[in-house]
Amino acid sequence: MRTVWASREYGMDKKEELQSSLQWLRCPRCGGETGTQVRPHTVLEDFPLFCPKCRYACVIHFKDGRTVDIKMPDA
Ligand SMILES: [Zn+2]
Repeated sequence: MRTVWASREYGMDKKEELQSSLQWLRCPRCGGETGTQVRPHTVLEDFPLFCPKCRYACVIHFKDGRTVDIKMPDA
């Protein structure tokens, strides 16, 4: 019984740890939260990002917690 509760609590802790380490990818234009979640060590390259707040679409690099906006060539 005790073991069951211990493992259940451990599972909850791991879930909370995962969620707390997630952060919203910020829009490079308005700084708002986009619908994309990243972790502190997430690395994104040539990642198409769309901001639902200011409707800004761009391609970004994300590394070391920093977002770098890459200008999209005019189509
Ligand atoms: Zn935006």
